[in-house]
Amino acid sequence: MKPDTKVLHTGFEMDERTGAVSFPIYQTSTYRQEGPGVHLGYEYSRTGNPTREALENIIASLEEGMRGFAFSSGMAAISAVLSLFSAGDHLVVSEDVYGGTYRVLSKVFSRSGLEVSYVDTSDVLNIEKAIKKNTRAVFIETPTNPLLRITDIKAVAQLCKDRGLLLVVDNTFMTPYWQKPLVLGADIVVHSATKYLGGHSDVVAGLVAVKDPDLAEKLHFIQNSTGGVLGPFDSWLLMRGIKTLGVRMERHERNANELARWLGTLPQVKKVYYPGLPEHPGHEIHKNQAGGFGGMISFEMESGEMAERMVRKLKLITLAESLGAVESLISIPSLMTHASIPEEERIKRGIKNSLVRLSVGIENVEDLKEDILSAIQ
Ligand SMILES: *Cc1c(COP(=O)(O)O)cnc(C)c1O
Repeated sequence: MKPDTKVLHTGFEMDERTGAVSFPIYQTSTYRQEGPGVHLGYEYSRTGNPTREALENIIASLEEGMRGFAFSSGMAAISAVLSLFSAGDHLVVSEDVYGGTYRVLSKVFSRSGLEVSYVDTSDVLNIEKAIKKNTRAVFIETPTNPLLRITDIKAVAQLCKDRGLLLVVDNTFMTPYWQKPLVLGADIVVHSATKYLGGHSDVVAGLVAVKDPDLAEKLHFIQNSTGGVLGPFDSWLLMRGIKTLGVRMERHERNANELARWLGTLPQVKKVYYPGLPEHPGHEIHKNQAGGFGGMISFEMESGEMAERMVRKLKLITLAESLGAVESLISIPSLMTHASIPEEERIKRGIKNSLVRLSVGIENVEDLKEDILSAIQ
């Protein structure tokens, strides 16, 4: 089945019992038991809920894993995955990882003794050099946020396999429509489903998919124990969003490709970061591991003041955090999404004050160009 068909025909999107084409929202916390411990497979909705389960099966199917898990946010999903590790364990993490992931690692999990090294994972050698005796996993994002650096998933997966490490990939920017880390050798995929999977700026959610049954058991234990589960209605909203993932991703991609090229011709724009540009350093690797280049573009303006002035003047493109929505969203990472990273560290990572991040929506691209042009002039 082709990907655009599969996003709406996974086999879990319908209700088997009633034939309802839109999966019912089982808005219930508990389930009647025939006798003590005798039930239809559901006891309590933290442990399991049919609507959430339908969504969990869909993400497992789309990522070609064996089991999926839905959480109340991307950070709850990432925190559940990080809870697989213990005090004294060490992780190697992409250095321009999502700001919230950096924050939870450096301010929360560090207090329970989890050690982390941040390296530029676009060079596999850097990962190899950072591996220590107590290293248990490698955590990567590709493309990264906001500089869109590319890491070779297959090469890192091979390294992890050789060293007995788990590979975790945050696949938020690509979604399984364009990129399937589990197929490329990763062990765990995490998503902020708030972004492209939901796609409409109306739900905060996180998803995890794995291919190993033991790992699935451990994650379900953590999900049920720590309790950051996604509610039935939000699970339904995500299922609704995922049905149009194919058409949305194709349009995001087409718009972003055109905008990235066009931005590069503007005298006020100093540099454009987009994996779809042939001059992007990760272009070839990305092309080999993903079906598309996605809808995220970052670009540097002449100065931080100019960047700020432009985002204030935009009329159509919304100044907001988040990404992956049908409407175009723009942000200045240094002042918004990445403000929690200390300035010195941020500059070291190349996140200048003049850097603008654009999540290209599905509007007509000519309207987006016009909006940017009139905001710059
Ligand atoms: C937004 C985001 C997260 C966090 O997800 P929330 O749903 O906001 O908790 C994690 N990783 C990436 C790449 C993100 O963009």
